[in-house]
Amino acid sequence: MSKKFWTPKIETMSSNELKKLQLKRLKNLINYIYKNNRFYRNRLKEVKIEADKIKSLKDIEKISFLTKQDLREFYPFGLVCTEVDDIIEVHASSGTTGKPVVGPYTKNDVELWAEVMARSLWANGLRKNDIMQNAYGYGLFTGAHGFEKGAQKIGAMVITISSGNTKRQITIMKDFGTTALVCTPSYSMYMAETAEYMGLDPLKDFKLRIGCFGAESWSEELRSNVEKRWGIVAHEHYGLTEIIGPGVVSECSCKKLHINADYFYPEVINPATGESLPYGEEGELIFTTLTKEAFPALRFRTRDLAILYDEKCECGRTLPIQSRIKGRSDDMMKIKGVIVFPSQIETALMQIEDLSDNYQIIKTKKGSIISLSVEVETTEKRWKDGCIDDLEQKAEEELFSILSLRVPVKVVEPKSIPRSIGKAIRIVER
Ligand SMILES: [Zn+2]
Repeated sequence: MSKKFWTPKIETMSSNELKKLQLKRLKNLINYIYKNNRFYRNRLKEVKIEADKIKSLKDIEKISFLTKQDLREFYPFGLVCTEVDDIIEVHASSGTTGKPVVGPYTKNDVELWAEVMARSLWANGLRKNDIMQNAYGYGLFTGAHGFEKGAQKIGAMVITISSGNTKRQITIMKDFGTTALVCTPSYSMYMAETAEYMGLDPLKDFKLRIGCFGAESWSEELRSNVEKRWGIVAHEHYGLTEIIGPGVVSECSCKKLHINADYFYPEVINPATGESLPYGEEGELIFTTLTKEAFPALRFRTRDLAILYDEKCECGRTLPIQSRIKGRSDDMMKIKGVIVFPSQIETALMQIEDLSDNYQIIKTKKGSIISLSVEVETTEKRWKDGCIDDLEQKAEEELFSILSLRVPVKVVEPKSIPRSIGKAIRIVER
């Protein structure tokens, strides 16, 4: 019989034991970065913190945050706490303002990454006999590499196909008997569409049973569409280049997002004031990597909004749980005084029958005034039947009920909105 948990001792430890482990690791971390990096040493000196002065996990709150601005300033290797010689792998994500965010790894960091990814994929139900099609782009991005390491540690077969060339993806998926698909959720929908176009039935002609998705925000409604379309269980993954890549947080069979908190210490703060918030309150996620060597992050501000929960999960894991990401605080739009997240628009659109999950939010700037409109595809059948006026009206009403904001909706022809092989482009500025 295959084991239920990848690391049972850790995944089922009591919250007190976990806190003890985290505290021990935090003290080691403070000691380590104090010795090995000047930037961090100065930061710690400013607030008079040394490893000996850390008495409880609460003491971490005295330390200032690590921000994207800091990363830019010390680009590319200024925050590395080992010799640059000790780095054996490096990844990067596109930075919002030009310079990429760099993720360097020592041999131990790579091993840690494989371990947390194996734990996460195991929780999704991936086993040795699975065949995993890795349709994230292979390149500098962390995604594909993290999933590959974890799956291989479990012993599953990895098809290193990368993203794109969608017809070939479908052929390989059928011929190789792929059982697990890894990519962005929007790309999985594009793949289903392509399979149908090729005369195949996503529900009958494939052996797919699990989807491991991430790298873009998606609503529960889109998840349920993906599951129905492919006949699979779709799981969410959450991670960041600054922390390790994927492997920070992932879902169990109950679709709860467990944090690998023995390695990544989570906090939630009020993004406006920086003040720590208790479990159960929504705020900005902060992570501290407790054991990383090359690039430990101490209280990194993720800009992502979520809630932490300390509650029992039916799966038996005791690792803390976080809500799905409500939205990146960077993606938040303020329209006529109303706060709008793209995910709320997705949720509204998916309530309407005959609308597809291909949509774009159009942001128009006139002087300092920003307005929003939405273009969304209808289904092939509805388009042929004609009369889409009432669809637009229904969508506008649904948006109004969620946002209390009038957002004009234009229903467009199927397959007229550009598809993406990676992150879907949901917001365009015109
Ligand atoms: Zn669980």
